[in-house]
Amino acid sequence: MDEIKSQRRAIRKAMEYAVSEGDLVAAEDLLLQYREDRIALDLLLEFYSFLPEAQEDHVREIRLVARSQGVFLLAAITTMSAYLYLISSEGVEFHGTLHQGYLDQDLLDFFGYENLEAFKQQCADQEKLPYYESLQLDKDVCPACHAVTGELHELGCPVEVCPWCGGQLIRCPCRFEQLGVETIGSEEELVKLEALLDERGRVAYSPDQRPGFADEGPGVALD
Ligand SMILES: [Zn+2]
Ligand SMILES: [Zn+2]
Repeated sequence: MDEIKSQRRAIRKAMEYAVSEGDLVAAEDLLLQYREDRIALDLLLEFYSFLPEAQEDHVREIRLVARSQGVFLLAAITTMSAYLYLISSEGVEFHGTLHQGYLDQDLLDFFGYENLEAFKQQCADQEKLPYYESLQLDKDVCPACHAVTGELHELGCPVEVCPWCGGQLIRCPCRFEQLGVETIGSEEELVKLEALLDERGRVAYSPDQRPGFADEGPGVALD
């Protein structure tokens, strides 16, 4: 959890320059609301570090535009405008303003939009977008890789169950036994492992896989 703490600290630091004094409390409130949520914290850090309009502003709400396989398209609703961010465990990408409503074809396909028009239409009415809910509280989302119920984990996710022994896939010896190696060192071996897993049938995420997290929980010191 230290990583999350230092991320919150970095956001607060960036806020000092990005947010006008009168809005600091509101900005801080939103940070508290998402204090355990990596996806939202990634968004906030990106926003406050690279203010899209290069002038004081703050995020009032975060809304969910689309999500698939651990990739989130979120709208940061600010005092001045609203901006799209594409976020996953791989990183954050800024995608312009919500009212521009632009997404390239690959992403339209990825999120299952019929066409750009359908996406624009959804963006046009930001009040209809649901609030983004903190993932750690959402039982239908893998707390580590953010796959939703029924989706495959990202390979290497510590929550994924081994289809051979029912243990923890990144801990049990099955992956070495299946490949006939002592260690997995090359990209080639990983690709081979993925093929073997697919053949065997990978275990998709379900809420009963949630580990009994010894997390900080609500009501802890917040710095
Ligand atoms: Zn996972
Ligand atoms: Zn196993």
